Amino acid sequence: MTVYLYQEDLPEGLDFGTSVAVDTETMGLDPRRDRLCLVQLSAGDGNAHLVQIARGQTQAPRLCQLLNDPKVEKLFHFARFDVAALYNAFGVDTRPIFCTKIASKLVRTSTERHGLKYLLSELVGVDISKQQQSSDWGSAELSKAQMEYAASDVLYLHRLKAALIVRLQREDRLVLAQSCFDFLPARAKLDLLGWGEPTDIFHH
Ligand code: MN
Repeated sequence: MTVYLYQEDLPEGLDFGTSVAVDTETMGLDPRRDRLCLVQLSAGDGNAHLVQIARGQTQAPRLCQLLNDPKVEKLFHFARFDVAALYNAFGVDTRPIFCTKIASKLVRTSTERHGLKYLLSELVGVDISKQQQSSDWGSAELSKAQMEYAASDVLYLHRLKAALIVRLQREDRLVLAQSCFDFLPARAKLDLLGWGEPTDIFHH
């Protein structure tokens, strides 16, 4: 396993195949207030590529081309947040999307536990640490622990997706899941425009 670190954009010539796992780290949980600090990517090959985003940075052409490439699936856990953070930073529409959290909610209806750490432990048999989750992602120098944590959030998403696809197919909910994924860019924009949780337009 190798973790690569880049500044401000992906290098030229990286090929992530037809499905790339993506995660972001930000200054906090409000995508309107808290800036994007790091974007992590993995082709599911055991390697992670981390892109550090500078304060005030508004462009990352190679990264955005990948995020918007219709031939490459972007695989997230809780895409709603990351897609909003990426749109807020770069004005990029991320698609097509697969979200392992939504997939889990559609098939694992006997439990409320849909966190990444829990799902990886239950469905993939991998234990990841969440210790660095709320560390200072705005720091210019990321620690080794931060980089390892950031990488672990994308390294196993392909395996998790595979386990969830089996259940979505078995329960005949794959088409419904896809419809939910397709709506995520609009859901993210509603969040950024102020229609978040208390004023959700789908709420009664
Ligand atoms: Mn993360």
